[in-house]
Amino acid sequence: MKSYEVLLHENKLWAAGKLAQDPDFFDRLAHLQTPEFLWIGCSDSRVPANEITGTAPGEIFVHRNIANLVIHTDVNLLSVLEYAVVHLKVRHVIVCGHYGCGGIKAAMSSKDYKQVLNMWLRNIKDVYRHNRKELDAIGDEEQRADRLTELNVMEQTMRLAKTSIIQKAWKNEQRPDLHGWVYGLKDGLINPVFEMKAGSPIDPLYEFTDL
Ligand SMILES: [Zn+2]
Repeated sequence: MKSYEVLLHENKLWAAGKLAQDPDFFDRLAHLQTPEFLWIGCSDSRVPANEITGTAPGEIFVHRNIANLVIHTDVNLLSVLEYAVVHLKVRHVIVCGHYGCGGIKAAMSSKDYKQVLNMWLRNIKDVYRHNRKELDAIGDEEQRADRLTELNVMEQTMRLAKTSIIQKAWKNEQRPDLHGWVYGLKDGLINPVFEMKAGSPIDPLYEFTDL
């Protein structure tokens, strides 16, 4: 069997197993998805949102990209955010990075990753630059990368609050709460590092007063 054929074979076993446990499983999910959470995570194959949070299909709406970035010109991310907040009415948006992130390490290096990746990683370099004093003071490279991972998650969470999508939902429906988490590849544990409850004050420069 070829490697991708194993996936299709495993899929058949998984579907049969689900049906054996719960004959209505697929019928129920096919008709309705009402997730309470939007997850913005890293594309890294070692950080599967459902598996590490013990959640089932239907419980988390997921968007993933390299180093879990919230870029205000990223139509893909903004479409997911708008659909999750306006239509699915999620109550929590979670930005989840992870220690040992290759994207973070790449952004800390001086290597040329060619134009598209350079463009993406530049956003993380900006987070480093804004926190240069704190980060440069950390001698150990791995610890410095870990701290940048935490600072990056905080920055991306704050960026969510700068969107009119979030500000409008905060104003009219007092949701969603925003969370910045970092997952540990070495111990499997999530470290909650930052939180912005719905309606949290933000820099007035980014606040829309005529929504
Ligand atoms: Zn990563």
